[in-house]
Amino acid sequence: MKLQEEREAIVAYCQKMITSRLTTGTGGNISICNRARGEVAMTPTGVDYFEMKADDIVIINLDGEIVEGTTKPSSEAGMHLALYHKRDDISAVVHTHSVFATTIACLRWELPPVHYLIGYSGKKVPLAPYATYGTTELAQNVAEAIGSYNAVLLANHGLVTVGSSLSRAFSTAEEIELVSEIYYRTKSIGEPVILSKEEMDNVLRKFGSYGKQ
Ligand code: 13P
Ligand code: ZN
Repeated sequence: MKLQEEREAIVAYCQKMITSRLTTGTGGNISICNRARGEVAMTPTGVDYFEMKADDIVIINLDGEIVEGTTKPSSEAGMHLALYHKRDDISAVVHTHSVFATTIACLRWELPPVHYLIGYSGKKVPLAPYATYGTTELAQNVAEAIGSYNAVLLANHGLVTVGSSLSRAFSTAEEIELVSEIYYRTKSIGEPVILSKEEMDNVLRKFGSYGKQ
């Protein structure tokens, strides 16, 4: 089977997406792009994450044609491909319906730098305009909104994160959900203080060497 390592990583992270409460049911989707081969390992549409096997992951090329697999690719495969086409530093895409990020997205707000961990995305998380799930319009809206950020809120829908690896894209989804919850909670009892551009420049500079032993 092609991209066996990628297939197994996707199944493990899909289950983690449920146990970390980043999505429910069959919501969300995950892909990894193997740039050297020009192939993308993609979750199938509508399959329970605890029944999903590595063999159920479908391999498509960057034109969206099925290269290997018997399942139907995620309804958001076009959105994942649009992101891979937009930025060549992206090797993984995670899409979730996590509650607090989605709450902010249903207000059609961007997420401002209320906490330094927003640096996983950049200086904010932008908002992509609403379009029906699984449409080319949604894919275009997300590819336009991403800019140089690593996360995008999808109006009335959820969150998309990208990264140079699946573990990085997944961590970004976790941290942006945390910042979304903090924003929600602070907005509930007062008016949060938003970090300045200068301070976010500092944070992003420090992030460059964070965790390197
Ligand atoms: P799929 O099951 O087709 O991946 O769809 C889930 C989803 O989140 C649609 O936006
Ligand atoms: Zn979705």
